[in-house]
Amino acid sequence: MKGLLLCVCQGTCPSFQNMNIFEILNTIRREGLVDFVAIHPQLCADDGDNFLSTLAKSNGNIEKLYVAGCDPKMQTKMFRDAFERAGFDRTKHVGVDIRNMNTEQALEAIRKLIKES
Ligand code: SF4
Repeated sequence: MKGLLLCVCQGTCPSFQNMNIFEILNTIRREGLVDFVAIHPQLCADDGDNFLSTLAKSNGNIEKLYVAGCDPKMQTKMFRDAFERAGFDRTKHVGVDIRNMNTEQALEAIRKLIKES
């Protein structure tokens, strides 16, 4: 199973103001590129950790977890503990930076990520 999470810095950061996050997720699910989608306002906060570890634990069959949000290297560092707690193989998490993009640009970046990984 493949999933896509969108993380948007609480929805207040200017980096995410030029895109329609609902349209992005709806397009990706309509295109059937992943098996589930979700939006989280702040995955790097404590409740984001809880969300990630709960998701990773309860879905032992996740092959890929795509996260569109901030810099993928930052994501790797910030999500490390949550994945470790869940016993989730970190290499299944693949991030993409969509900051400062509009809806179409973010969609393209996410499609490319999914096709190439
Ligand atoms: S994980 Fe990245 S995109 Fe999400 S709230 Fe934290 S800094 Fe922002």
